Amino acid sequence: MVETVKYDLLVKGGLVIDPSQGIHDKLDVAVFKGRIVNLGVNLNPKESKEVLEVDGQIVTPGVIDLHTHVFYLLGHKREGLKVDSTSLAKGVTTVLDAGSFYPEDVEAFRYYIVERSRTRVYALLSMKPDGNPREYGGTVKANRDFLVGIKYHHGGLGTMDMLILAREAADRGECTLMCEPYGPKLKTILEYMYRGDVLTHSFHPPPRRGLLDEDGKVLPEVWEAIKRGVYLDQGHGRSGFSFEVAEKCLKQGLPPFTISTDLHKLSVNGPVYDMPTTMSKWMALGMSLEEVIKRSTLHPAIVLKKDGYLGTLKIGACADISCFKMLEGEFVFEDSAGEKRTGRYKLEPMHVVRSGEVVF
Ligand SMILES: [Zn+2]
Repeated sequence: MVETVKYDLLVKGGLVIDPSQGIHDKLDVAVFKGRIVNLGVNLNPKESKEVLEVDGQIVTPGVIDLHTHVFYLLGHKREGLKVDSTSLAKGVTTVLDAGSFYPEDVEAFRYYIVERSRTRVYALLSMKPDGNPREYGGTVKANRDFLVGIKYHHGGLGTMDMLILAREAADRGECTLMCEPYGPKLKTILEYMYRGDVLTHSFHPPPRRGLLDEDGKVLPEVWEAIKRGVYLDQGHGRSGFSFEVAEKCLKQGLPPFTISTDLHKLSVNGPVYDMPTTMSKWMALGMSLEEVIKRSTLHPAIVLKKDGYLGTLKIGACADISCFKMLEGEFVFEDSAGEKRTGRYKLEPMHVVRSGEVVF
């Protein structure tokens, strides 16, 4: 009997965890023409051109890192990384460059990074102290295929004036505003943020002001912002993540909406390293694997307004798939303040499929 070839690729034998569908099951994932076309038990390998055996591995929707810096050639801080080696090779299929360049460098970013990377790359425009909101808004609108918003601000130079400019730019571009919680008071920054906007470095260590009051309680203005639809992003980075702050927030029922690295030249060799290490840190803090995966797949896809297409293994979705091994042992993790926590689990990247193609 001759089987008809129905699939381009079969990801076979793994434990599929897809929070977008509430799936936690041993299933095979079938791909055809860059899309997910079937999820099932014991799909016939003879019906597929290519088979990726992933026995004993965890299979998730392609992981999305919502805070990176990947303009390795240029960029105003000269801190970008080569995204395919620091993200794709670490199990990440999509990244958001969180403000590495200004409007004048958009074409260079498109040419050198977006079009020449195997990783899917989106970006935010970084607000300049004297930026023109009209120009920013127009630039976003003209490059919607990869520009998704405005970044206030990058590095320690945030001012009230820049916050106002960034808000106006996001309004004109009809796009997302991502803010760092530095510069003006957090209460003021949050007042400028609307539904769908993102606060990054949310759990940064003291003495900078953060989500907590002096007694370690989550500030009322933070709860109000979340109720309004503002998202909390991790943005680990060299100085943006504290275990102690994260633990206090988790205890009060405030996890990050999205887990992300803020990977750049000064954080990639520690304390951040990569996305799987960052995800494993939340497991060390007691978050379940499902929750960690949800905040690294479905949730960032929602922020990017690409849910249904990215961050899911639903039939018809883009065939971006990440496969990990779950290592068990004693793993010591470090935050941006040099504090350490020991975890029992660590995710190890094994394979990456982007748009149906095995790229790693
Ligand atoms: Zn950053």
